[in-house]
Amino acid sequence: MICARCDRHLKDDEAEPINMAAATGAGTTIYLCKGYCKSAPRQTTPHSIRH
Ligand SMILES: [Zn+2]
Repeated sequence: MICARCDRHLKDDEAEPINMAAATGAGTTIYLCKGYCKSAPRQTTPHSIRH
């Protein structure tokens, strides 16, 4: 599994499952590092951010 925040590969004992309840009723479980981790730097340009 991969941390949804920092994209790091996690072992079972490193991952914190987070249940994302969806409006459709089909919940999605994502995994994050236990404790704090930084977001992975994304290769997106500022131009892709629209307001
Ligand atoms: Zn992480």
